[in-house]
Amino acid sequence: MDAGLAGVEALSGIPGTVGAAPVQNIGAHGQELGERLVGIDFLDYATGEVMRLDARDLGLGYRTSALKRGRAGIVLAVELDLDAGGWSGPIAYAQLASALQVELGERVPLADARRAVLALRASKGMVLDAADPDSVSAGSFFTNPIVSESFARAMPADAPRWPIVSEEPERVLAPGEDVPALASAEYQVKLSAAWLIERSGISRGFTLPGSGAAISTKHTLAIVNRGGATAADVAQLASLVQTRVLAEFGVRLHPEPVFVGVEL
Ligand SMILES: Cc1cc2nc3c(=O)[nH]c(=O)nc-3n(C[C@H](O)[C@H](O)[C@H](O)COP(=O)(O)OP(=O)(O)OC[C@H]3O[C@@H](n4cnc5c(N)ncnc54)[C@H](O)[C@@H]3O)c2cc1C
Repeated sequence: MDAGLAGVEALSGIPGTVGAAPVQNIGAHGQELGERLVGIDFLDYATGEVMRLDARDLGLGYRTSALKRGRAGIVLAVELDLDAGGWSGPIAYAQLASALQVELGERVPLADARRAVLALRASKGMVLDAADPDSVSAGSFFTNPIVSESFARAMPADAPRWPIVSEEPERVLAPGEDVPALASAEYQVKLSAAWLIERSGISRGFTLPGSGAAISTKHTLAIVNRGGATAADVAQLASLVQTRVLAEFGVRLHPEPVFVGVEL
């Protein structure tokens, strides 16, 4: 962005390294790394060799990739296709458009886009900040569930819904990777995990007795460590959230973080 290059400005403030970015195809506020990713240099543990992988060979999806699903190795370099000129890409997220006081699809100076994104993220405790206890989290804990159109129609009228086009690009499966199920003929719809959690009766700040983990006071989608939370505390709270949403709406939420040593 300092060089005036646009295409990933909406990802401002997502904590992490460049190499980890393609692993879960990071995304936020209407942009996803995969839209700009050309390819990666990859040290493949299976062969011990450094190879070039094109983005279309990475099985990128919503917060996932073949790397997250188990293709072992190290991302050594990332090539992005960015736009010169100092203007943002088309604003594709309603809250961001309204913060910038522009219509969806408009462009703004790159620095304005970054500033607005960082402010929006901070209001949800999503920028790492030692002074903000709500930022002591793993980010969004659950992905937004994707359901069929007919299922989405049966949701309450005020449930946020975003129709999505599921276009799995042609690609070579990684060794050991499962063959994906055929995409359904009907289009799919993304629901808001935060809305589902709130409407299933779990409010901001919610915690269990004796637990160090709590729902963020700024955002129902983040589970924060209020001090001394164990992985088991986090998993217990996450499991309660999952159960409540499943009972209320029949939707199973899937965690975005990878679990090591604990089960959900
Ligand atoms: C406050 C907060 C807000 C967040 N907001 C967002 C958000 O808006 N959108 C979003 O998508 N994510 C978000 N996240 C999640 C997180 O920022 C991303 O997953 C990020 O990519 C993690 O980077 P990391 O370097 O910390 O990777 P780690 O968490 O250390 O690693 C993630 C995975 O990638 C693997 N990995 C790491 N580096 C490499 C490499 N070079 N080669 C191969 N594998 C590697 C690790 O083994 C691990 O499996 C948020 C997290 C926090 C804490």
